[in-house]
Amino acid sequence: MLLQQAKEHLQHYFGYSSFRPGQEEIISSVLNGNHSAGIMPTGGGKSICYQIPALLFSGITLVISPLISLMKDQVDSLDQAGIPATFLNSTLSQTETSARLLDLAAGKYRILYVAPERLESSLFLEQLQKMNVSMVAVDEAHCISQWGHDFRPSYLRIKDLKTELKSNPVFLALTATATPIVKEDICTSLGIQEQYTTVTGFERGNLSFNISKGENRYDFIERYIANNSTESGIIYAATRKEADHIYERLIKKGIQAGRYHGGMSDVQRGLQQDLFLKDDILVMVATNAFGMGIDKSNVRYVIHYQLPKNMESYYQEAGRAGRDGLDSECFLLYSPQDIQIQRYLIEQSTFQKERQQAELVKLHQMRDYCHTEGCLQAFILNYFGDSEAEPCGKCSNCRDERMHEDVTKEAQMVLSCMIRMGQRFGKTMISQVLTGSSNKKVIDFKFNELSTYGILKHQTAKEVSEFIDFLTSEQYISITGGQFPVLVVEEKGLEVLKGHLEVHRKEKMRIVEAAANDG
Ligand code: ADP
Ligand code: ZN
Repeated sequence: MLLQQAKEHLQHYFGYSSFRPGQEEIISSVLNGNHSAGIMPTGGGKSICYQIPALLFSGITLVISPLISLMKDQVDSLDQAGIPATFLNSTLSQTETSARLLDLAAGKYRILYVAPERLESSLFLEQLQKMNVSMVAVDEAHCISQWGHDFRPSYLRIKDLKTELKSNPVFLALTATATPIVKEDICTSLGIQEQYTTVTGFERGNLSFNISKGENRYDFIERYIANNSTESGIIYAATRKEADHIYERLIKKGIQAGRYHGGMSDVQRGLQQDLFLKDDILVMVATNAFGMGIDKSNVRYVIHYQLPKNMESYYQEAGRAGRDGLDSECFLLYSPQDIQIQRYLIEQSTFQKERQQAELVKLHQMRDYCHTEGCLQAFILNYFGDSEAEPCGKCSNCRDERMHEDVTKEAQMVLSCMIRMGQRFGKTMISQVLTGSSNKKVIDFKFNELSTYGILKHQTAKEVSEFIDFLTSEQYISITGGQFPVLVVEEKGLEVLKGHLEVHRKEKMRIVEAAANDG
């Protein structure tokens, strides 16, 4: 009966004729009064899982959502659909807040959005107790877990509502993070039984995943944007500074780009987001502050300028492409230094040792994704628990039919040069020595007297440097040190030097030809 009504509401309020995978199961589970969890990929349609029950319950639905900046959008679109909803957050004046609370008490709204931090206010709790809350929907529920990628201590407060609210509401946890440990944490915290958790397909068949290594990243995006000038896309940078930098370069090039990061004011961000949603600007350069909950269906590409800190973040951000189901592309521009930067950030963090260790493991899995020669889509699905994923046939690894080339000799030149230099230097200095630069530092260290000095002089320092990146990404070389990275020959590299291991590279490098001419 209720489910029939739910279907009618889906049509009436949202204009959709059928539920997506998982939605019906989750909705009927909460309508039956069971605390439930819904795990669906980004864009899978989680919001409807609480919005429709909210219309069917007698009391109000409290939605706990981490991003204040998104509440207004969500409420606006519910308003448009004819569903009375509101939010309370720190952007509202005292008068406005009081007015909304009065309306809430009078039952004027079906849905109330708040940030988890608000649960720490005893005044708010008092108000809440007067409200007859029928359901508590926890959006981005992975924030409950220390093992999630975005832990928020205030999420731990949510479970207390179970005893604090006399109306005995049903709890629904929603997230796109499906790793078993996170799922378990969510269910334990909110008292959700296994049979009431719904996990739906994580496969996004319309996305093609691509990794690009050892390429100039800025050149890549400029070229990509030029070749896709009528398409909408997002470029994710790791830091605000980097986002600003890319943005400014694109603007100088005459490309209509927008930008979005935590260093901008709410007004600026809102403005940029609107322009992007309305297709007035096609390219958005952003940090990971951008995108959570933003529903833009026609994003045709997502490019990660730098490595994200883990696979969860990556899949969530990349998954903002192609929500309309049309073919879309995801690129990760990989450079081994990124690992170093992320590791540094983890080590500098205030996390406890155990948490730091967990973050490092996730980072290594992210690195493995960049190194795998197998299907990228399958790697991702595997990561999220589907061990039977078939090769997708469309990712950069599946499509890569180039032959491997033997670059063992060149690798030995680089590695032996590093050893002769004492393994105390970074990529730039090593490339300079290999290409025979007469840079003062090279001469001061007497590196011009080494037998490997200028051994790759037919190459530019940049090309050699890219070759070093390749050797690093394949773990012949490792990077240590934070601010001034130092390259060290790895065990695997020593095997190459001893002639026990060959090095093969897919990319056709000019370095190989030149070295061959040399001999
Ligand atoms: P999520 O929160 O899981 O990332 P959303 O709830 O924002 O996803 O939904 C993503 C998009 O899918 C929205 O545009 C939403 O309107 C649409 N959608 C949700 N459910 C359905 C459905 N049953 N049929 C068609 N479109 C749907
Ligand atoms: Zn593939």
